[in-house]
Amino acid sequence: MSITVDRRSVLLSAAGVAAAGTLGLEPSPARAAAPMQGVLRPSVYRFKLGGFEVTNILDGFVQSNGPHPNYGNNQPAETVQAYAVANRLPSTRFENSFTNTIVNTGKEVVLFDTGNGPARAPTTGKLTSLLATAGLSPEQIDVVVITHGHLDHIGGLLQDDKPTFPNARYVFGEVEFDYWKKGDNITEARKANRDQFVKTVVPLAEKASFAKTATEVVPGIRALEAFGHSPGHMAYHIESEGRRLLVWADVCNHSVMSLQQPEWHTGADHDKHMGVATRQRVLDMVATEQIPAIGYHMPFPAVGYVEKVNGSFRWVAATYQMNL
Ligand SMILES: [Zn+2]
Repeated sequence: MSITVDRRSVLLSAAGVAAAGTLGLEPSPARAAAPMQGVLRPSVYRFKLGGFEVTNILDGFVQSNGPHPNYGNNQPAETVQAYAVANRLPSTRFENSFTNTIVNTGKEVVLFDTGNGPARAPTTGKLTSLLATAGLSPEQIDVVVITHGHLDHIGGLLQDDKPTFPNARYVFGEVEFDYWKKGDNITEARKANRDQFVKTVVPLAEKASFAKTATEVVPGIRALEAFGHSPGHMAYHIESEGRRLLVWADVCNHSVMSLQQPEWHTGADHDKHMGVATRQRVLDMVATEQIPAIGYHMPFPAVGYVEKVNGSFRWVAATYQMNL
């Protein structure tokens, strides 16, 4: 028995009993320790944007090795590992998270991307089951906007081979849709992705419209080309009663690496140089215009501001600003 336990026993038997006696309390019978419950995370978050309501839902997360080489893809591993540690992150383990955004304009309900679906269960694919927590149903989704064709964004379009959102029409980026449909220059790593796109997304074309910069999805929501992460990747600008927000999807994929080192290449970017240029342009716009952003892979609830710091950027999580 250790000295610490001995001291504790002494304290319990002597001081404890004495205190109980002083207070006139009987010593309580032994109670079972509360069981460990495991990690618990907030997964549904809603805020106001003018007359709109914006709900973010955590579809899930995936843990893997990283952040190098996906982040700082053109940097030595040691440089990225040291940078992670300097930012209080583990050097060789990484967690990616996936946040879907739903905007209720008061007239229509617009969902941005559909999560992973069943492919990476059980830690992902929670979007549809969490809709009820948000007070919504799949039937209430009027428009599904797909920012780009990667699996973590299109994986939830179908459930048991039927549309998950049965009353929705769809909006795809025009360039993005054509790229995946045509299938030219698909890399080996994206072959399975292309197969799924052809199987699940292409048949939805008859219920879809195709966006370019300035295309209006519904009043208050406009498309903005942000190519690079994928060939036709789109961001969306939302505005209600003068309050603005940018849904930047995968322009930045890591809250530290992509913002503080935007010129570092991202392994998942289709065109790495275009990815850098788009990242710098969008970050500069959001920081200069001081508008909040939602990033699909930012830490939940995935809404924040971008601050310019020493020629670079920093993610500043939003708190109560939106609701005042
Ligand atoms: Zn993504």
